[in-house]
Formats: sequence, structure tokens, C-alpha cells
Amino acid sequence: MIEIYQDANHDRGKAMGYVTEASQGKPYVIELHSNHVQVIPPSDAPDSDWRKDFTEEEKLQIFDRILIDYRHRTIGDNGFVIAALGVTKEGDIYISGNAGEEHSSSPFHRHCAERSMVKVAADRDAYNRKSEHRRSGLPLDDFKPRFVDFEALYLKGGNAKNPMVAPCGDCTDMLIKRMPPEGKIYMLPNDEERQELRVNTKARYITEVKPGEVWLQTIEQLNANHALALPPAMMVEQRQAFDVLCETIARHLEHGTTIDPHYKLEELQPTHRLAIGTKTADLLRDGPKISSPMALNRFLRQEIQRTALDRVRTIMGKDSDRDYSPAHIKQVIMDKIGLIRCSAVQLDDGQWSAGIASVSTVDKASTSAELGALNNAMSALGTSGVYRVRSMEFSPAAIAEGVMRTPDKSSVERLLKRASKLTKTIEFGFIPYNAGQLSTRDVQDATQIRMTRELLPGLFSGTGDLAKLHVFNGTGTGAGRA
Ligand SMILES: [Zn+2]
Repeated sequence: MIEIYQDANHDRGKAMGYVTEASQGKPYVIELHSNHVQVIPPSDAPDSDWRKDFTEEEKLQIFDRILIDYRHRTIGDNGFVIAALGVTKEGDIYISGNAGEEHSSSPFHRHCAERSMVKVAADRDAYNRKSEHRRSGLPLDDFKPRFVDFEALYLKGGNAKNPMVAPCGDCTDMLIKRMPPEGKIYMLPNDEERQELRVNTKARYITEVKPGEVWLQTIEQLNANHALALPPAMMVEQRQAFDVLCETIARHLEHGTTIDPHYKLEELQPTHRLAIGTKTADLLRDGPKISSPMALNRFLRQEIQRTALDRVRTIMGKDSDRDYSPAHIKQVIMDKIGLIRCSAVQLDDGQWSAGIASVSTVDKASTSAELGALNNAMSALGTSGVYRVRSMEFSPAAIAEGVMRTPDKSSVERLLKRASKLTKTIEFGFIPYNAGQLSTRDVQDATQIRMTRELLPGLFSGTGDLAKLHVFNGTGTGAGRA
């Protein structure tokens, strides 16, 4: 424990000053400015590195105090006020808060503290470096702004329902690019009275963290199960299936034909829609019946092949490319198609909906396959929730790596908010891309199952109630996200 004194007479303009001593007795002054924190080392030891002089516990104590003060001057989001403080690789410190949906004409929009902080850091870094550049007499044309990378992030916020917050899906997707895998994320309790901060590193999911505890995770832990390793036999299967796909496309281009949708979504549908409410006990025990793994495998494969043929035909048509050899087609795919993914979601009543995502040089915009499927199920999502998701992806990069990717965390979060009304979770299943020669047993064995919290360990399921936001109640205190 260290003492932190607020220095009312601190004469550094508008900054708020904190005076404290590191455990070995070195006096430091720490200033909170508009969007950054400056640490001023002792005058008799100007080269001291605060990151070495303060223990992890002392840093936590100081940053908690700064986050509390900072929060009191931020806008927040309908009573849900979150502040994020980031420490860069160079030891610079930036801070920012969230801003509410009231700033946007769309009720779906969100301005998170973490993303705001990363933007602030990039702006300030560019400002400082450009001034330095100018002072050194270097040509300004050479100056390039850059993203700033962080080694630690401290997050504070919440409300009565959420005693602390973790980065949302979008922010997890962003932070994994801005931090090393071992980058630390400290999620501090929302309250402001606490004297002692207990750090919980054991909890795997946010729901296991007790009120008042600090949850410490690496960004890699929060981005859990982003890519699933395949067993060697399936790695070979995926590579062979790539060749089979090229041969299939070559044949259709040669003959100018299309792949007709032979397997239809209806094939997956159960014969009876389940009555929600009347069979709750049965549903809770067994869930809606899974369609035959073979039918799912056929349908997902077919939709990927149809989409791949369409994209290759368009790409080659643009270049007036008439080389229809499988080897050439493979090269075209590797150069110009990032991924094609097909997902099917099954609701509590048993019904399936499907969605496709494609990332290629001719796709200028796309949503994730899982979100596409969710949107196609929208009309039933008041009474039903998403019980299951099954996805398959064709991606040259993932095939080369021998992995299967799960959806980005932003999609997982949006699905989780529409999770089964019965189980409050979703069973995700990922099927490797294959050549269609697998047995029912093979498909079952190759499907990797993950539940929502295994894909998004940092998220509560109940947050983000849109009905409480400004669309219906301009002064409400609805929950938001970090
Ligand atoms: Zn966020």
C-alpha cells in the first residue's frame, strides 16, 4: 500500500496532480491531463523508470484513483460510465472514456472507452512526433502517423447489474491487434470506496469474478478460441478439398454452367416447429433436434462452392482470363479470395436460417456469416433465441495453417445477446472444410463444439438492453458496454 496525496496547489495549469512515493521511497508526481497521464520522476533521479519503481499493486492503486477522477468528467452512456487507461510499449499513458448513443442518430451505435483511448493515443503520438520531426528540420513529407501498441490496459466501469466490465466484442477484436498476446487487461470494480484491490487471475469467465475483485486477463485469454487446431487427418482433408474445389470450378467454367442449389435449407428444417413454452422441460433436457450431420455438411459445403464459383467467374471475367486449368484457378483463389464462410443458426423452435460471408477482391462489403444467418432469423427472435450455430469456412490462409477460425468476437457478442431463451447460451459447432467424402461419424468427430463463454469469456449475457436506451427513454439508465 502506498499513500497518494492529491496536490491542490500543483501549479501545472489544468492538470490534476498526485504526489506519491514508490515502495523504495522515490517521490513521484503524476499528472492527469485532458487525455494523457504524465509521470514526473524525482528531481534528483530524472532517469527513473516508473514502470520499474512501482510494483504491479502500486500501479493498480494509482491508476484506480486516476480512473475514478477521470470518470467524473466524462459523458458516459446513460449512467454507464467507463474509463480506459492504456500504457504503451514506450511507457506513455493515455486515458479516455465512453460516450453514449445519444450522440448518434442510430440506437445501435456505440462509442467505447477502449477504442476512444486508442484513437487518442494515435493522435497525440502523431502530434508529438510531427513536432519533433519539424524541430529536427526533417522534411514533413516523410512523416507518417502510426498506430500505438499497448502493453497494459486498465478498465473501470459498470453499474448495479454489472459490478465491472470487460472489453466488448468489437474492442476485443481491436485490442488483439494493438497488444502482444501477453498484454495485460486489468478490469477494475465499478465502486469507488474500496481501499484494497484484490486481483483475481484464476477466474476463466467474468461470471466467476466476485464483486469488488479486479479481474486480470491477457488479451489472448479474452480472445479465447479464435482459431481451433485441426487434427492431422483433417488438415490433409482440408488441403485435398481445396484441390477438389478447384477442379469443380474448372469444370463449370469450361462448360459455362452454375452449381444449382441441390441441397436446400428446407432439408435441415424439422418436420414440426416446436411450440415454445409448452415443452420447456423437454427442450431444456434435449434442445431442438439436431439435423443430420450429413445434411448440414452437404448444405454448408454446397453454399461455399456456389459462392466460390461465382466469385472466381467474376474475378476471371474482369481480367478476361481464359485459363481454366485447376492449377491456375487455385492461384487466382489464393491471390484474390480471403475467405468464404457459411453458417446456419437453429432457433429454440427448431427452425434453421443460413448466411454466407465472402471476402474477396470483388466483395466491397460483407457482414459475418453468423450475423447474416442471425439477420435471416430476425422475424422469430422475439419468442425464440439462437440455440445452435454450425459454421464452415473455406480460407486458403486457414487451410495453410491447419486451423479452423471461429467468428470474430463482435459477431459472437451480437449472437450471445440473442441466445436461447431456454439455456441463455449458444452451442457453436465448427465443421472443417472437406471434399464431401466423410462418413456421418467422421463429420460428427470432426465438428468442434464451443459454448459462448468459451468464445467470449469476458461478457455478461444480459447487458445492452436496447429498449432502455434513448429510443424509448431519453433519460433512462440503460446498460451499455465498455
Ligand atoms: Zn467496446
